[in-house]
Amino acid sequence: MSIQIKQISKQFGDFQALKPLDLTINEGELVGLLGPSGSGKTTLLRIIAGLETADQGQILFSGKDVTNLHVRDRKVGFVFQHYALFRHMTVAENVAFGLDVLPKKQRPTKATIKQQVAELLDKVQLSHLASRYPAQLSGGQKQRIALARALAMQPRVLLLDEPFGALDAKVRKELRRWLRNLHDELGFTSVFVTHDQEEALEVSDRVVVMSQGQIEQEATPQDLYQQPASRFVYDFLGGVNVFEGEVSSLKSNRLEQGKAWVAFPDGYKAEAGQLYLRSHELSLSNQPSATAHLPLKIKAVSLIGAEVRVELEPLGWHSQDLWEVVISHSHYNHWQPQRGDTCFAQPQAGQLFTSNENQALAISWTKEQLLIKTA
Ligand code: ADP
Ligand code: MG
Repeated sequence: MSIQIKQISKQFGDFQALKPLDLTINEGELVGLLGPSGSGKTTLLRIIAGLETADQGQILFSGKDVTNLHVRDRKVGFVFQHYALFRHMTVAENVAFGLDVLPKKQRPTKATIKQQVAELLDKVQLSHLASRYPAQLSGGQKQRIALARALAMQPRVLLLDEPFGALDAKVRKELRRWLRNLHDELGFTSVFVTHDQEEALEVSDRVVVMSQGQIEQEATPQDLYQQPASRFVYDFLGGVNVFEGEVSSLKSNRLEQGKAWVAFPDGYKAEAGQLYLRSHELSLSNQPSATAHLPLKIKAVSLIGAEVRVELEPLGWHSQDLWEVVISHSHYNHWQPQRGDTCFAQPQAGQLFTSNENQALAISWTKEQLLIKTA
């Protein structure tokens, strides 16, 4: 089922939690709503569900206006961060609950309910826990049961509000892959709220980035990552270093600040602004190159994970935050950088946000232009 949101807005007292916004979610799609705390994600989700009424606008489910339809008639399933299971009921009883309390006319027979619950527990891979009580489950298992309970009602739409937010990182990662697989198998339409950019990019078909009650950008994970539409999105996705500079009075293709400068490649005009450089789109070496002079002092080297993360402090120029560059283990082994060493960053690609507008200019340096002297 598709969901169409038309000019929906919401105010709490004087506070505009949602500015009039439009969004279409296609049938079978898994859309991630991503944004910082307070950006209006939960409010939007609750309006889709019918738990909250919008001040204006319309919600359509598969073209049909459901704006004034009661929550119980919208056939929407929910999973929340703390969707407490009923403590005095077994896992199977929890999953069956919604069906057990249906009016007699709609209620399936006891045998049918039993069979449906068994199938659902099988889907969430927890059949072996059917007769346990919630207190005997881990956090991740509880959320899988909460999902089975929501799916028991055969919802047309599944809404998930930070469902894995309370779980530890490893379990969270497992569960989001599991959710993605289940979604592909069952094909429901879902909206998944998260403030975790990695989670949103990994799980979603499309990501909707929200900020201050507005949609900043909606795009596939790939497009969002490759073409962030604004500084906000860039910053929020993380792992970015900012070089703020003026056009050099000596060389018009150079952006400079203090002792540091970056020369723009042929075909680009340097303009005053902020150059956004992602931590994996920079390399480090012992000497500056022909196109960049960005001296940095190594503050920390972290070997955790697939790559080596180097934290750096500008030398002779200024940046609001420390810089971070990731290098390969093989580069690290060859180079052996130490805390306190000086090195130079070399950008390969970046985006310039000029001072007068919020428009981004994507820049990339070709190998010939780089002329990196490797350490
Ligand atoms: P998010 O889920 O993105 O963290 P919410 O949708 O929960 O954001 O909240 C958006 C803003 O609206 C927040 O500033 C929040 O304090 C405010 N808000 C949400 N619900 C209410 C409410 N029932 N009454 C007053 N303010 C609310
Ligand atoms: Mg929320």
